[in-house]
Amino acid sequence: MEKADTPLQQVQANIAQACKIARRDPGEVTLVAVSKTHPAEAIQPLLIEGQRHFGENRVQEAQSKWPALRDEYPAVQLHLIGQLQSNKAEDAVALFDAIHSLDRPSLVKALGKAMDKTGRRVPCFVQVDVGEEEQKGGCPIAELPALLDQAREADIPIAGLMCIPPFDIEPTPFFALLDKLARDHGPADDSWGRSMGMSGDYETAVKLGATHVRVGTALFGERG
Ligand SMILES: *Cc1c(COP(=O)(O)O)cnc(C)c1O
Repeated sequence: MEKADTPLQQVQANIAQACKIARRDPGEVTLVAVSKTHPAEAIQPLLIEGQRHFGENRVQEAQSKWPALRDEYPAVQLHLIGQLQSNKAEDAVALFDAIHSLDRPSLVKALGKAMDKTGRRVPCFVQVDVGEEEQKGGCPIAELPALLDQAREADIPIAGLMCIPPFDIEPTPFFALLDKLARDHGPADDSWGRSMGMSGDYETAVKLGATHVRVGTALFGERG
């Protein structure tokens, strides 16, 4: 008897299908499994299945869960996907392999300082406020060029752009906008990443150029 697909296999198959439709190479898309709120026991099965990229939104929670799991699985790559307070910048730089929420000058300063101090230069995505919703964080589009200049001056490696579109609205225009911003502001070879797409819309995001999809609920079930 054939075994049913696991949630991870289903999500991977959906990404592969979206890539096929968009004529993209599935190797261009990194699945970041968003494990926030879920305990180590819920994460273990995905590690056993081979998943290596994980996302957390709180520094403290990640510090309590990941060092032990990482001892067992040293290839794990941790992504910080949540808003970051400047006073946690040093802890974040020490723990995470990528930061998806660089969104303001004070954080550029704090992260630049933390990277100088630790000698770890962690790639950062600049979060852009594509839906003009201040409460989600994100740099206003008009302020993006200045923020990118500041990040360059602080010697922060920019991995690309990230967005969280408004809920309950068709996300397609927002994903297309982030893709365009990455093309317009990134290097000439268009090598910047696009961190966009969550459980409800990651296939759409992949069709519109996502390089990093951040998927929680579709892999772990509802958060408590
Ligand atoms: C929680 C979260 C996700 C994952 O959301 P799901 O809908 O559970 O897939 C993705 N991105 C960010 C920034 C998040 O905070």
